[in-house]
Amino acid sequence: MPTPFIDTPVEYLKGVGPQRADILKKELQVFTYGDLLLQYPFRYVDRTKFYTVKEIDPEMSFVQLKGKIIDMYIIGERRAKRLVALLQDSSGTIELVWFQGIKWIEEKLKPGIEYVVFGRPNLYKGKFNIPHPEIEEKSDENTKQASALQAIYNTTEKLKFKGLDSKGVAKIIKTLVSQLNNSLPETLSPAVMQQYSLIPHEQAMVNIHLPSSQEILKKAQTRIKFEELFFVQLKLLRLKLVRQKQYSGFVFAKVGDTFNTFYGKHLPFPLTNAQKRVIKEIRVDIGSGKQMNRLLQGDVGSGKTVVALMTMLIALDNGFQACIMAPTEILATQHLASLSDLLKNTSVTIELLVGSTKTAARKKIHEQLREGSLNILVGTHALLEDEVKFKNLGMVVIDEQHRFGVAQRAKMWKKNIQPPHVLVMTATPIPRTLAMTLYGDLDVSVIDELPPGRKPISTVHRFESQRLKVFQFMKDEIQLGRQIYVVYPLIEESKKLDLKNLMEGHEVISRAFPLPKYNVCIVHGQMKAADKGYEMQRFVKNQAHIMVATTVIEVGVNVPNASVMIIENAERFGLSQLHQLRGRVGRGADKSYCILLSSYKLSKEAKLRLETMVRTNDGFEIAEVDLKLRGPGDMAGTQQSGIVDLHLADLAKDSQLLQYARVAAIDVLDKDPELEAPENKVIRSQFVVLNKGRLNWSRIS
Ligand code: ADP
Ligand code: MG
Repeated sequence: MPTPFIDTPVEYLKGVGPQRADILKKELQVFTYGDLLLQYPFRYVDRTKFYTVKEIDPEMSFVQLKGKIIDMYIIGERRAKRLVALLQDSSGTIELVWFQGIKWIEEKLKPGIEYVVFGRPNLYKGKFNIPHPEIEEKSDENTKQASALQAIYNTTEKLKFKGLDSKGVAKIIKTLVSQLNNSLPETLSPAVMQQYSLIPHEQAMVNIHLPSSQEILKKAQTRIKFEELFFVQLKLLRLKLVRQKQYSGFVFAKVGDTFNTFYGKHLPFPLTNAQKRVIKEIRVDIGSGKQMNRLLQGDVGSGKTVVALMTMLIALDNGFQACIMAPTEILATQHLASLSDLLKNTSVTIELLVGSTKTAARKKIHEQLREGSLNILVGTHALLEDEVKFKNLGMVVIDEQHRFGVAQRAKMWKKNIQPPHVLVMTATPIPRTLAMTLYGDLDVSVIDELPPGRKPISTVHRFESQRLKVFQFMKDEIQLGRQIYVVYPLIEESKKLDLKNLMEGHEVISRAFPLPKYNVCIVHGQMKAADKGYEMQRFVKNQAHIMVATTVIEVGVNVPNASVMIIENAERFGLSQLHQLRGRVGRGADKSYCILLSSYKLSKEAKLRLETMVRTNDGFEIAEVDLKLRGPGDMAGTQQSGIVDLHLADLAKDSQLLQYARVAAIDVLDKDPELEAPENKVIRSQFVVLNKGRLNWSRIS
């Protein structure tokens, strides 16, 4: 069988050859024609438009001018040596500058002739110049030729060295595109294309690289994005289908005494409507005979713990054990404390297993688990170990699931012959579009309502210079009997520096809040667990007024009496972290505050982050801004997702298209789950190509 066109090695393309092919492989992972076609332009410049020198403004990334060279000279020595040509048009003059190829350019340029100049304007000492512009004698050709949009491609220094700058890449891609002649197989069925008014695959590929108009470019982009999103959704939905076929779930048919007694007698507060709704959703799942894989999203403080507990109680009522796994010892310990409190007048047995659990205690827990006398096990990664064997595990709850890898979660599945039900929880709100792509194979529940009586947290942004005022405010709050967190950033790369920061901060605070009137404690990641625990307890027991800490307190600390969160160097934190930190206060009945301290020097993005925090308490809104700022690639948990398959589609911008693509994928699978129908043959082929070697990977969440 001949090699399909798109699998042709890239060195066979005219203008490429072995050397360039080699560098294309190394720099861009481009091996074949198909790979090269996937190098979509990251933007287009409109060469139909000419500007005048006067119209140039700093926002323009490219500008095209017409004018005459009126002067030309070489200045500077050695590396600063450059050729300057003064271009004049009807509105003024601008310097064109070359640092390389000076001799050649100097010979080529002739004064008095009209040129077309294209380049990136650069502001230097209050004046614009254009370094290394493209320049050509003006002709009918180049004033008209440019009726097309010019594609701009990503490139690297090494590629440029081999002549593959954006223009060079454009050239070889143009060569490739001109060879297309029904060479690319269609990937979507006629029905889908018709329903969503999509142009054919090959036509889209041609026009994404060589668009003849804005209009056709738009169509090409829509088609390609849709296709990307469609196949990611198809993959996720297929995984869900396969999983449901492969594994049946324990049927928890009844809600028994344990649940009912707890609900009737021991629940310390009425559930919010959102909590009730989520418990109902879970009950439907676990009674259905399918294995539950549900994601529970709920902002910090929304009350996920009690939902997790009641879910576990249903497992107990049906003769099963349950466990809850958290990413850190602090968090696991916190869970044990709140769960034990909720269960205090019941006969439910619960234990904690973490890395630091002593051997004797550990052995006892192992035993109780095996014989079934232990109902609920709370812990960290320690739960994953092989010696941790349950008599009959029926329900696994995973908190802050994005901190666990797929393999770790897979281990939990194997803790019973038939996989237990799985409830994963996250307090990091995920924008809908991202959730659909990250967790499109999971069912999602959302607690979108905080327990009553919460007072909103007032958030303000203050500069360093206002520190004294902030200190006074802290004193006033302490006077009222409240406690305060002061948090310093922790950035992996410079642990030393951060520790120094924290220590200095601690000193400043200790001086401003001296003993014996004030008591300050300190917690950071490099402390011994015992010391950390001791300092924490001082704060929990209200023996310390202020806790100075790094982000170790981001998850898990629950001190309702703390009413102020001060975040130092707030500009260095990401949005979701800021939001998590703020969630540490506002848990008691008192009015709470979050003060974001920063220097005056703020990047545009940092400013937007701080403004967002001041404006809203809504975790989902914050997550949307975060997604726009950072892009999906950097968000938690994206590594294992279909996002890597997205070249053009942007989850922050293409949410509408994603909806359509998901609906389309659901429709197709509903009618034809195995993709066997003749009209879906093209979809199936593309699906197989895209998922080569990973088809049998049942995703585990
Ligand atoms: P998170 O979703 O962040 O895990 P928690 O489960 O820790 O939130 O709950 C936060 C606090 O709110 C806890 O102190 C919990 O007891 C309390 N809480 C939970 N649900 C309710 C409710 N329905 N009414 C009142 N308080 C509640
Ligand atoms: Mg929690």
